[in-house]
Amino acid sequence: MTHPIDPVTRTFADRHVGPSPAELQHILGTVGVGSLAALATAAVPATILDDVHGDVADGLDSLPDAISEQEALARLAELAGRNTVATSMIGQGYYDTVTPPVLLRNIVEDPAWYTAYTPYQPEISQGRLEALLNFQTMVADLTGMDIANASMLDEATAAAEAMTLLRRANKNRSPRFVVDTDLFAQTRAVIDTRAVPLGIEVVEADLTRGLPDGEFFGVLVQLPGASGRIVDWAAVVEEAHERGALVAVGADLLALTLLTPPGEIGADACFGTTQRFGVPMGFGGPHAGYLAVHEKQARQLPGRLVGVSVDADGARAYRLALQTREQHIRREKATSNICTAQVLLAVLAAMYASYHGADGLKAIALRVAGHAADLAASLRAAGVEIVHDEFFDTVLARVPGGADRVVTEAKDAGINLRRVDDDHVGVSCDEVTTADHVAAVVRAFGATVVATDAPALPAGAARTSGYLEHEAFTRYRTETGMLRYLRALSDKDIALDRSMIPLGSCTMKLNATAEMEPITWPGFSRLHPFAPETDVPGMLDLIGDLERWLVSITGYDAVSVQPNAGSQGEYAGLLAIREYHFSRGDENRTVCLIPSSAHGTNAASAVMVGMKVVVVGCRDNGDVDVDDLHAKIAQHAENLAAIMITYPSTHGVYEQEIGKICAAVHDAGGQVYVDGANLNALVGLARPGRFGGDVSHLNLHKTFCIPHGGGGPGVGPIGVREHLAPFLPGHPAAPRLGGVGPVSAAPYGSASILPITWAYIRMMGAAGLRRASLTAIASANYIARRLDEYFPVLYTGENGMVAHECILDLRQLTKDTGVTVDDVAKRLADYGFHAPTMSFPVAGTLMVEPTESENLEEIDRFCDAMIAIRAEIDRVGAGEWPVDDNPLRGAPHTAECLVREWEHPYSREIAVYPMGTARPKVWPAVRRIDGAHGDRNLVCSCPPLEAFAEA
Ligand SMILES: *Cc1c(COP(=O)(O)O)cnc(C)c1O
Repeated sequence: MTHPIDPVTRTFADRHVGPSPAELQHILGTVGVGSLAALATAAVPATILDDVHGDVADGLDSLPDAISEQEALARLAELAGRNTVATSMIGQGYYDTVTPPVLLRNIVEDPAWYTAYTPYQPEISQGRLEALLNFQTMVADLTGMDIANASMLDEATAAAEAMTLLRRANKNRSPRFVVDTDLFAQTRAVIDTRAVPLGIEVVEADLTRGLPDGEFFGVLVQLPGASGRIVDWAAVVEEAHERGALVAVGADLLALTLLTPPGEIGADACFGTTQRFGVPMGFGGPHAGYLAVHEKQARQLPGRLVGVSVDADGARAYRLALQTREQHIRREKATSNICTAQVLLAVLAAMYASYHGADGLKAIALRVAGHAADLAASLRAAGVEIVHDEFFDTVLARVPGGADRVVTEAKDAGINLRRVDDDHVGVSCDEVTTADHVAAVVRAFGATVVATDAPALPAGAARTSGYLEHEAFTRYRTETGMLRYLRALSDKDIALDRSMIPLGSCTMKLNATAEMEPITWPGFSRLHPFAPETDVPGMLDLIGDLERWLVSITGYDAVSVQPNAGSQGEYAGLLAIREYHFSRGDENRTVCLIPSSAHGTNAASAVMVGMKVVVVGCRDNGDVDVDDLHAKIAQHAENLAAIMITYPSTHGVYEQEIGKICAAVHDAGGQVYVDGANLNALVGLARPGRFGGDVSHLNLHKTFCIPHGGGGPGVGPIGVREHLAPFLPGHPAAPRLGGVGPVSAAPYGSASILPITWAYIRMMGAAGLRRASLTAIASANYIARRLDEYFPVLYTGENGMVAHECILDLRQLTKDTGVTVDDVAKRLADYGFHAPTMSFPVAGTLMVEPTESENLEEIDRFCDAMIAIRAEIDRVGAGEWPVDDNPLRGAPHTAECLVREWEHPYSREIAVYPMGTARPKVWPAVRRIDGAHGDRNLVCSCPPLEAFAEA
């Protein structure tokens, strides 16, 4: 391929791809190939490599031609313009809200926040860790629970996780789980999806009439209910406890500013969404779900949890706590498969609470409740029956045979109401509801009287306890104050706006501004996920385009965008496999083969669909041990459900035998799940749906430019071959989807960020996408060549090539010198770089993935830093510096540590400017953090102010 650049007409691809043509020639020269086309042949096995015509790979010819940023934005504006942004009073877990502009611009639209990665290197992530600690504190305070995690994927999956948490936490072995009738339909549906494979029997009952007979391990209720009703659940909690069951309460955080929180009536878990705290509905997402428990259940919490610890100088520092619970460590014994969560949206919700404070939130809640009360009063005055006397924001009206008429009348006035059934209409008020909206709704019921009333909250359930009293929620009332707080936090972090982030398996590529711009347009962001289809033709067309394009790129026959992270895609894909086998009467097929090198989510997901994990070994060269595979297939042939295999492998190599591996599993009646998180090494080169996969998930937040947001949002769509298409996720609110499931709260998952991927594919076109993949591979091989002599590259494929990432082996160096991967990772921060992926998939190694977006200068600087670090390691090895006092062990160095007494055998200059002052200095906010200390002394909410004084 040649890419002549006419300076007047640089394409989007020319901006997205880092290396210039001259730089690329240098990179290819070092790698030892003449062109990208030659690289494709050298790196990718001939058995899977797609043919190319011109610059376009087979299958991708159906993608539309590349267009410019301006053209893409114009087309997206046209799609957004075809959606109707109605006044949404549908409710059911999704409410219109006002995102304070200072938060919109300085979080959602600020790359310092949205291009960050999960804070695995806490010393250079203190800003977002503090913001997440605020989120956890906010949730714990409002729910009255001890401890909340750093976000869940949405409310419905949080409910399902609450169910499995109660099961783990309870010694009671009953398989029965009791749910109230008044749950959101999507919550109930996701619970059902999750329960079946785990052998949990869901029993539905109207719990206002008491608990059903018999044994059960858990109970789940909602506050307020889907109907708007507020019930005092204290008696149910008490009775459940007496009968050996634990209780989870789904609660609306805004309502909890006024109502007794679940923690104060003895609930064991509390879950929900934080969407209405400033996060646009987005046609279903993304927003942060939450899950909170009591101290004694902290180790049962799924997902990530931020905790407080100390650094090497004794200063307060934040980092991820209790990581040994997580899927990347525990695999099939993990508490859950959640990896990517909803960090960016959690930060937004927490800052919304900071900006409004307790009194501001309460005022919003009272206004919402007041509008609902006025509506009920007016309708009652007109003779309409209001079903519940006690409610917060949602009024349920009984109109025998008249629901359609009322909903249509309201629609004519620009308002979407909820048609519950022929006889009932639900109306939910929210932060943007006005008296005019209330009056319009009253008119839709054929009434004209406008009455007012006090909020219809039960007197006995009024909240008496305080909340959000910490300084984080009292200090930032002015825009200047909030602006500076956000800036001070993001200044502590390394995101893509400061440096390359060479995290292997994470694909930290450019998130182009033109891709990001549309997501906050009201035509995408203010749509309710259950709005009538006639409101959202532009959105549905966009989703349809994207599904078709992803079908072309992957070689599958159908795609679902519902899963809202890679882990959820795995779950949905394995569920499809399970349903397929069951549909053929093969209910015995429950064994899932997983290579030992697999990402931890794979095993955790397999367990969630009721499969038994059988590990397949790897050979010394990193490939799947095909002999072991055959042995395991023979041993489990009758019961074989699937293999989950990552391609290219998590070792960063294109295994030659992928075709044979797939064939062997198929011959034994199993299905092939290709983990497609590494698709950045395949787009435009090879298609998993053509080389043996039956199903794959893709990570749009890796290959397809959705930013990582500091640990979410994500989108993990799955592609399937024809025979699995009937088992893609469906949804109660979207009958057109058919299928099984759902696996997420909303029919199209995190729909409002799909324009990012739409724009990327549309602006790159088929040739641009292939160029991106090949450039990423070229740069990874370049790094492998440059660094191999300093840090041996652990695995290579045929021709000595790696795929889009490479693993640097430090184990021998560690043995010889005592310097660890941790030391190198922390030292990179002193050099101004984010560390590569540490000790995954092999302990004692670093995995480097440059992506196509980094130019040669940045790649070379990274390599230079690594080489300089190797020289430092050698000085330790030579005894020049002691193992326990050298620039590596002392890393990272703060500005503060320079002005203290300096008693190290290396200079201050070496500590903080090891390569001179040319590269802009990033000052880590804290020294090396003591993780174990934090786990021993678990603190997961904002420490009181006295604690700051002590420190
Ligand atoms: C990132 C990744 C996943 C999980 O994706 P999430 O979106 O974080 O859930 C699964 N498999 C592999 C190989 C990955 O790199």
